[in-house]
Order: sequence, then structure tokens, then C-alpha cells
Amino acid sequence: MTSLDPEALGARAYAMISELAAISAEPNRLVRLFLTPEHRRAADVVARWMHEAGLAVSEDALGTLRGRFGMSRRRLLIGSHLDSVIDAGKYDGPLGVIAGILAAEPFARAKAKLPFGIDVLAFGDEEGSRFPATMASSSACAGVFDQSTLSLADATGVTLASALRAYGKSPHDIAAAAYRPQDAAAYVEVHIEQGPVLESKGEPLGVVTGIVGQTRLLVTVNGEAGHAGTVPMHLRRDAYAGAAEMALALEKIVRAHRDDAMVGTVGRIEVKPGAVNIIPSQAVFTVDLRSLTDRTRKFAAERFEDEARRITTQRGLTYTVETFHEIATAECAPVLQDLLAQSISELGHNPIRLPSGAGHDAQVMAGLCPSAMLFVRCRGGISHNPAEFASVSDMGLAIAALIRFIERFQ
Ligand SMILES: [Zn+2]
Repeated sequence: MTSLDPEALGARAYAMISELAAISAEPNRLVRLFLTPEHRRAADVVARWMHEAGLAVSEDALGTLRGRFGMSRRRLLIGSHLDSVIDAGKYDGPLGVIAGILAAEPFARAKAKLPFGIDVLAFGDEEGSRFPATMASSSACAGVFDQSTLSLADATGVTLASALRAYGKSPHDIAAAAYRPQDAAAYVEVHIEQGPVLESKGEPLGVVTGIVGQTRLLVTVNGEAGHAGTVPMHLRRDAYAGAAEMALALEKIVRAHRDDAMVGTVGRIEVKPGAVNIIPSQAVFTVDLRSLTDRTRKFAAERFEDEARRITTQRGLTYTVETFHEIATAECAPVLQDLLAQSISELGHNPIRLPSGAGHDAQVMAGLCPSAMLFVRCRGGISHNPAEFASVSDMGLAIAALIRFIERFQ
């Protein structure tokens, strides 16, 4: 079948990705947020593609499009997201949706007799760029949607509940969006790597071993304000200097760790009163800690607290630590990893196994059913940036591998 030629599949995927990339809230950069007119337009285009591929299209209470093939109760779920960050690249999200459609198409066209049905899912919210919560759509599919997120508001004060209503949805229908665990056979997602590993190994495709868990902390350090000219150094209780030492301590803890997927970042810091000639009385900063096992991350967070205690005691400061976000590590199912690896090998490539340092819908879906991810090499490891790029050949190989995966899947 010519449609199974990776180059031809890649060329089709590129044309579709370009069509979606033109759907933006702004003329000069890509901004496609959840439950906006742009989301509607993108979903309409994707629904048309699903229909043309021979899939039966429906849409759930969170705006997730489903393209269904086959009547079996047992469903193989293939998906990714249509929303973007602000000033996004065009591959992050859409590639996975389009790969699902193009991989399901030959089975739908041939009316293939499979021991399972296929649902291609196009989620509306993965990035959390509009409301201060991520992965609302996949959470609904996985049956773990948090009702309290309905009252979260976007930057203009519109709540998720009212945005859903304006999109023609009812929050009352959210429970019905959930798959029953016994019906969800597996979830698989194709995504650009968003990192440099595949490029550095010279391989187009990788099999994800797990998606890192995340802990996010808000640390407040309190000291005492004073005149920057008159208070001698040894009498100061400088909140910022303490926070800075804590940031370096975090770096040291993470670097010393054997979990090579572990990373720690102080990404935001605010100093009060924030004047050039006043010793800071308060520093508030965030810590983002990620690792491939929950145990190692917990251990690092505890070590960080030990250091925070030591540093603040030495400096005559006080501190508080609040965990404001926690998501568990999601292990990708070994059986599915092997099926993906075999499919890549069959195409003549070396399946690189690698962890995902970024969060994905697969992380939420892993709570529902065995899940896996196929990563596609992206140039320079760049993402969340208009310079994001995956080649036509690599995308085509990913779709060809996904087709082989479906053939192998039981
Ligand atoms: Zn993504």
C-alpha cells in the first residue's frame, strides 16, 4: 500500500500540521488556547480529517474529539493535544493527533478485523496555557477530573465552567467522558522529544521508559530589612542571600543524585522590598523537582528541606515550604515499550529508550490503562518555540511504526 510508505505518510502529516498551525488567535505567532474560537476551528478541521479517514467522530464534555474505528468494547486509545503554549511551535501536540488519524486510517479503510477498536483522541487542554491547571481533557477521559478546577479562572476572569458552557458543553456531562478501565486496553502517544537525546544519537525514534514525576515547592524566606549602607555584613539577616544559598544547595543535591533523570530548577524568585539600597526582608522562590521515581524525588525534597533548615538557622532567618503541585512518575508499560521497539527495529532503526522530562497526557492516561509513548527526534531539542522542527521523514517513520504497533497489539 503506497499510503504506508513513510515518506508519503510524513508528507501528509506535514501538510496537516501546517494547516493546523495557521489556526491561531494572533496573526504573527501561534497561540491556540483551550475552549477558544481557535480551538473550535482546529477541532472542526481535525473532525473532518477523522471523518475522511473513516472514523466515527464525537466530542466529549471537555471538548476532546474522538475518532472511533471498530465496535469492540476494548479500545486502543491513541492521542495527543490540540492546544498550544503562547508563541508555540507547530508540532507539539498536533503531531500525535495526526499520527493517530493517519495510523488508524488504513485499518478503517480496509475494515480490518481487529480484536479491539481504535479511538483517536484529540485533547483540548494539555499545556494549561489558559487556565492554571494542566491536562484537564485527558483527566476527564481517565476519570480523574478534579471538579475544583471548574472554578479556576483565566487571565480575563472567565472560569473553566463558563468557558465550557460557552463552548456548548455542560460540566454535568464530564463524568460520562471517562473510559471504564476494563474498556481501555492501552494508550499510546506520538510526540516530539522536546530534548536533544535522539538527535545526539542520530536516531529518528525513541521509546519512552517513563514520564518524570514533578514536585513544585513555594519557598518563603524571611529576614530583616535594613539600610544597605549602614548595617555591617555580620549583623545582617539577608533573606535573598539565604535563598541564593538554598538554590545552590538544591543544585548540589540534584547533581549528586544517581537518578540521571533528576533535575531541579529555581525558576522564579521575588525579593522584597526590592530596592537597590535595602537589605531584602523576604525572598519567595519556586522549586521544580523532577525524577523518574517518586522515591528519589521525595528523598531529594527532604534533603533540600534539611539544607533550608541549616542555612536559615545559620543566617538567623526563618522559612516556610509549601508544595503547590505534585504529579507522580508514570512508568510506561514494558509490554507496550517492547512492541514499539520491535516496530522501530522493523523499519531499520535502533529504538532508543529514554525517559520523558516533560509532562504529557500519557502521564494521566497511565492511571487508567497501560500507556506508552513514541518520541520523534526534533531539531536542536527545541520546543515551545516557533523554531520547533521535526523532519517529514522522521514523522513518516513514527506513523509507520505506529501502524506496525497496531498490527502487533493484541
Ligand atoms: Zn505536548
